[in-house]
Amino acid sequence: MCMAKGSPRRLTVLGSTGSIGVNTLDVIAQLGGRDTFEIAALTGQGNIPLLAEQARTFGATLAVTADDALYADLKAALAGTGIAVAAGASGLAEAAACEADWVMAAIAGTAGLAPTLAAAARGADIALANKECLVCAGELFMHAIESAGGRLLPVDSEHSAIFQCLTGDHRDAVERIILTASGGPFRTASRAEMASVTVETARSHPNWSMGLKVSIGSASMFNKALEMIEAKHLFQLRPDQVEVIIHPQSIVHSMVGYCDGSVMAQLGVPDMRTAISYALTYPERGRLDVERLDFTRLSRLDFEAPDEIRFPALRLARTALERGGLQPAILNAAEETAFHAFVAGRIGFLAMAEIVEKVMDAMQDATQAGSIDDIMAVEGEARARANAIISADATMTGKR
Ligand code: NAD
Ligand code: MG
Repeated sequence: MCMAKGSPRRLTVLGSTGSIGVNTLDVIAQLGGRDTFEIAALTGQGNIPLLAEQARTFGATLAVTADDALYADLKAALAGTGIAVAAGASGLAEAAACEADWVMAAIAGTAGLAPTLAAAARGADIALANKECLVCAGELFMHAIESAGGRLLPVDSEHSAIFQCLTGDHRDAVERIILTASGGPFRTASRAEMASVTVETARSHPNWSMGLKVSIGSASMFNKALEMIEAKHLFQLRPDQVEVIIHPQSIVHSMVGYCDGSVMAQLGVPDMRTAISYALTYPERGRLDVERLDFTRLSRLDFEAPDEIRFPALRLARTALERGGLQPAILNAAEETAFHAFVAGRIGFLAMAEIVEKVMDAMQDATQAGSIDDIMAVEGEARARANAIISADATMTGKR
C-alpha cells in the first residue's frame, strides 16, 4: 500500500542538515518531492551550503540557521530565490510557527526542545526524532500534544518499532516493551579497555550511521538510557514495563510483550528512512527504495542481557525513572555536558557516567517543574554542577 490521499502535505524539517534531516529529505523526495509536498521551513546550524541547497531543491518557504552569525551567509546563498531567511532562536521560533501540518523534530539535543514544543502547541503532527523533548519535559510535552490535538509520531527506530507493533492492539493488554540495543562498539570490552578509548573509536557504531551525540551515546548506552525515558512517556508505561535487551545485529528494532505471552517484533535492515517514512505516511506506508531484509543471509539473531556494571547508564535511567520529577532532565543535562567534555578530550569515557550519577544524587531535591523555564533552570544547574566536577577534578580521566 502507498500513501493515502489525506497524508500531510505541508512539512517542516527542524534540523534538516543533520543525519535524520538528510534522511528525511531523501524520504520526502522518494515519496514524491515537490509534486506531493510543500516544504514550509528547513533549519540547520553551521552547514550553510547544504541548508541553502536543500532549500532550493525543495522550494522551501523559509530557511533558518540557528547561528545568528551566519545569517548574512545564508541570505547571500539564497539571494534571488524568494526564499525567506532567518536566524537564531527567533528564527527557529519562526520556523516552528510556520503553517506546516507535519514537523520533523530532528535538532540534536536540548536545543530542539523550544521549537518542537512550539510546533506541538500549535497542533502540528510531530515526527519526533529529538528524544530530549520527552526526556527533559515529558509531561509538559505530552500535555502540549494532547491539548493542541496533533499526533506524536515516533522516529527513533526502537520507538517506531514499538509504535508499529502496537497498531491494532489494546494498550491495556501491553505487559512490557523490550527496547533492543546493539551494544555499540564496546559491547564486549572490559571497563579497563573502555577507560582509555578515543572519540574516534567511540563514535564508530557497528550498524547505524548517525550524528556524533547519538553515536557516542550508543557506545556509552546513554542513548538507550534516554530511550527508556522516552518510551515511558510515549507509551504511558510504568518504569518496570520498560526492558532493554542487547541484540548485536540491530535487525529486531524493538518488541512489545502482551498479557497473553505473545511478543510482537518489528524487523528490518538498520536504516532510519523506514522509521521516518512511517512517521510521514502513518497509518499508511510509503514505497521506499531501501535494502530489503534477506532472511537467507541472516545466519543468526543474538540476544544478551545488558551489563549494568560496564554500562551504568541503564541503571541511572532506571533510577531517574523511579525518582521521577526532574531527575530525567538532570540526567540529560549532566550527560550532555559530560559528552561535550569527553569529545573535547577533557575527561575519559567512563567519567561520563560517574559525573551524571554525582549530579543526579546531588540534585534529588529538585522540585517538579511547572514550566519550560523551570526545566531550563534545573538543567542549567545540572550543567553547572557537571562542569564544576569536570574542572575540579582535572585528573579525572575515567581510568581506574
Ligand atoms: P546531527 O548532529 O546529525 O544533526 C543535528 C541537526 O540539528 C543539524 O541540522 C544541526 O545543524 C542542528 N543543530 C545542532 N545544534 C543545534 C542548535 N544548538 N540549535 C539548532 N539546531 C542545531 O544529529 P542526528 O543524528 O540527526 O540526531 C538528531 C536527533 O535525532 C537527536 O535528538 C538524536 O538523538 C535523534 N535520533 C537520531 C538518530 C540517528 O540515526 N541519527 C536515531 C534516533 C534518534
Ligand atoms: Mg534509537
